[in-house]
Amino acid sequence: MMKTYERFLEYVAYDTQSRADADAYPSTEKQWLLAKRLSADLREMGISADVDAFGYVIGRLPGNVPGAPRMALIAHMDTSPDASGTNVRPRWVRRYDGGPIVLRAETGMVLSPSQFPSLKKHVGHDLIVTDGTTLLGADDKAGVAEIMTIAAELAADPKIPHGDLVFVFTPDEEVGSGTDHLDLAKVPADFAYTLDGSDAGEIAYENFNAAAATVTIFGKSVHPGSAKNRMVNALMVAMEMDSLLPDFERPEITEKYEGFHHLHGMEGNCEKTVMKYLIRNHDQATFQRQKQDFIVARDFLNAKYGYEICHIDIKDSYFNMREKIEPVMHIVDIAVEAIRETGLEPLIEPIRGGTDGARLTFLGLPCPNLGTGGYNFHGPYEYVSVQEMDQSVEVLRRIIAKVAKTK
Ligand SMILES: [Zn+2]
Repeated sequence: MMKTYERFLEYVAYDTQSRADADAYPSTEKQWLLAKRLSADLREMGISADVDAFGYVIGRLPGNVPGAPRMALIAHMDTSPDASGTNVRPRWVRRYDGGPIVLRAETGMVLSPSQFPSLKKHVGHDLIVTDGTTLLGADDKAGVAEIMTIAAELAADPKIPHGDLVFVFTPDEEVGSGTDHLDLAKVPADFAYTLDGSDAGEIAYENFNAAAATVTIFGKSVHPGSAKNRMVNALMVAMEMDSLLPDFERPEITEKYEGFHHLHGMEGNCEKTVMKYLIRNHDQATFQRQKQDFIVARDFLNAKYGYEICHIDIKDSYFNMREKIEPVMHIVDIAVEAIRETGLEPLIEPIRGGTDGARLTFLGLPCPNLGTGGYNFHGPYEYVSVQEMDQSVEVLRRIIAKVAKTK
């Protein structure tokens, strides 16, 4: 039986970088190659699998425990556009000694525990790192390899009890489109887990509520030489608008459950200025209040200047899955028990972003996220612990055993 790291090393050889703003789906042709490979690997194990017209790999392993809940395991195949995924050259650091790891001597690039404290947990582990020129692809090929490992194990030994299982590998997660074309009719499951986190003890079922706000300021442009008491400079009013929002709700000064509004784009002139904000909060009521702050600021400016100087368009992007997970909290409890039995401390932390699992949860497939043993995603400092990948597989093994006993 292939080891998880052996599968991992094979999959990171595939460049599966996705691309934003592509017309095609998947966004890059090269993602098909890994999709076909995974589908072939599943079939070779004796699991019925195929790649659909959008590049989703779906494998189905019927259960051998009548009445057990049906479960899906999901990971994404693509890697982030933030760093190259071409010619990934994984390197071993065996029995890591806790010191700095030179990734690239020429440029002095070092993976060090002072900058990346997660390394301290991995003293004595075998690590796989990059050569400093690409990302590693642990996000999310660690998750892919772990699901494939468990699939192979179950397929090879029909005596291991399990319910119906669906294995799903998705393209384009990194560009926010991982579930765009996923047909849930092809994923007959009562609940699912994505494997897309870091710490093998991680279980996440809370993410941000998210909205995007576009603020447009309409000024009055007049020749500056004769502007007295007539010009209204949209750029100045845009800054005034921002100053009306709470100072302490910005990404650079918030963490954990603290929400924020983030000004991520501003473009304009005296005549017209457009500002783009992201609004984020785990708490629904506070999220609504943050959106209301924008409306209050707009109304204030419109009253102050005596015309519709400020327009605001707010669109919700996604919501915190927590409210949909709470009614099925046993799927979190099962994972927490499985993590403890693996000898790990459960790490329950809110995700400061969205997940494909959150989208699936709102489509009716409750889907918390588990860790994979991969760290420092989206860049050349990415690494995996081989032992922690094995622990993630052990967590899955125990989850599957527990679900088989649930009626
Ligand atoms: Zn990921």
